[in-house]
Amino acid sequence: MRLLIMGPPGAGKGTQAKAISEKYGIPAISTGDIFRANVKQGTPLGLEAKRIMDAGGYVGDDITNGIVADRLAEADAQQGFLLDGYPRTTAQVAALDEMLGDDDLDAVISLQADTDEVVTRLRKRAEQEGRSDDTEEAIRTRQDVYRTETSPLLDTYRDRGLLIEVDGLGEVAEVSERIFTALDGRN
Ligand code: AMP
Repeated sequence: MRLLIMGPPGAGKGTQAKAISEKYGIPAISTGDIFRANVKQGTPLGLEAKRIMDAGGYVGDDITNGIVADRLAEADAQQGFLLDGYPRTTAQVAALDEMLGDDDLDAVISLQADTDEVVTRLRKRAEQEGRSDDTEEAIRTRQDVYRTETSPLLDTYRDRGLLIEVDGLGEVAEVSERIFTALDGRN
């Protein structure tokens, strides 16, 4: 299966991506995780990405598209994948379309959660994990950037008949079940 998971920062994409990856035996590919790994290793990309991520902005499309193209070319992604946090801009949608060619996506999961709820979750995560982009200001910027840059992409995938909207509120296992039921219902 070739899947995307989308939703506002704090909706629980990473957690659900892991569950989907295990259930369907496909790699979960998170651009945020790839950037964070580069930050940790102190690569030139990491140095550039850290500045942008800490401010709550988006890393440039060319860099991001290149990273995803390389990752999708790896052996484990040939039988399917779940992209978490990509695409986030219209330019990234176009780049992904090109990467996939005739291999259409099977579904796009939209994890829904209201802003108050996600901001509360992100504040909690800031306390627990100490992610440097979970400051109050970066949290707000990320919500705004999501609203303007990324939420319009949901319409694109809805128009293509790929969008599955799932309520992201509730227990983690409950949300996973909603996703599995919706995905199994399509196959
Ligand atoms: P995430 O872990 O998905 O919330 O991503 C953390 C941060 O990494 C984002 O706030 C962006 O700064 C950067 N990032 C992740 N994915 C992308 C993407 N597809 N395009 C641009 N920036 C991204």
